[in-house]
Amino acid sequence: MSDQALCWMDGEILPAAQARISVLDHGLLYGDGIFEGIRFYHGQPFRLQPHLQRLLDSAKAIGLMLPMELDAIAAAVQALLAQFAGENGYLRMVVTRGVGPLGIDPAQCAEPKLFIIADQLRMAQGGIREQGASVIIASTRRLGADGLDPRIKSLNYLNHILARMEATRAGADEAVLLNAQGRVTEGTVENLFIVRDGILLTPPPIEGVLKGITRDCIIELANQQGIPFQETALAPYDLYTADECFMTGTGAELIPVREVDGRPLSSCPGLAYQKLQSAFQQLVAEECRP
Ligand code: PMP
Repeated sequence: MSDQALCWMDGEILPAAQARISVLDHGLLYGDGIFEGIRFYHGQPFRLQPHLQRLLDSAKAIGLMLPMELDAIAAAVQALLAQFAGENGYLRMVVTRGVGPLGIDPAQCAEPKLFIIADQLRMAQGGIREQGASVIIASTRRLGADGLDPRIKSLNYLNHILARMEATRAGADEAVLLNAQGRVTEGTVENLFIVRDGILLTPPPIEGVLKGITRDCIIELANQQGIPFQETALAPYDLYTADECFMTGTGAELIPVREVDGRPLSSCPGLAYQKLQSAFQQLVAEECRP
């Protein structure tokens, strides 16, 4: 966290280091809650509405009542950004089940808690965007849609954290998680695309994939650029033999992949990546004008 980090909580904005929530909050005790990560550029949140809609959908899916209407949350974001000392950065919007008795039953958690942190975010350091990321396939599996719907952006990230630790131990930049059937899902905090014979491919959410906002942007841009696109199940084989591969996420933006499990890909950064990367930058510039 930087010194600049601010937090909106209960209608107030304070230095993030001073913001407090209760040790009895079920978000902390059981990971009972949801979140969004949103980038802002030139003081404007990127794709705020889809993020708010996904937050609302996650809330509905876990039977959580958002403590405020989406318009009021959007207003809180604007108030926070007006005070944040920086044009570009990242928002972390969290809604927890709130304070309740010990025990997982949320029935007596009367007040869901919303807070929003604004801070800098540094990802893709050390020339990864230029040279590409080295990726491993983690032994930790992604929870399947039969366990917890992957479209719910919940506070339960342990599988992803364990996969991230595997990547660090292996000296790789990132890990890809497979589902229980051994098919490719996504990175620890990014969606994954490959290109094969000129076709852009990514697994559908039902495979165990968050329906990423950046993923949606890339699909939109691929359509505009005339790049054929298909949602399809992928095996590790498809990654090893892909013409190109890249990952997308709010924090990561777009990151090309150089190698998977020590197998170099034929092209990095590939042609489709380069086209989509520049189209994405243009989209951000258009939607988040100074
Ligand atoms: N998958 C997971 C598991 C994530 O945490 C994220 C980051 N939110 C993504 C994919 C990318 O989604 P988005 O483009 O909405 O940030």
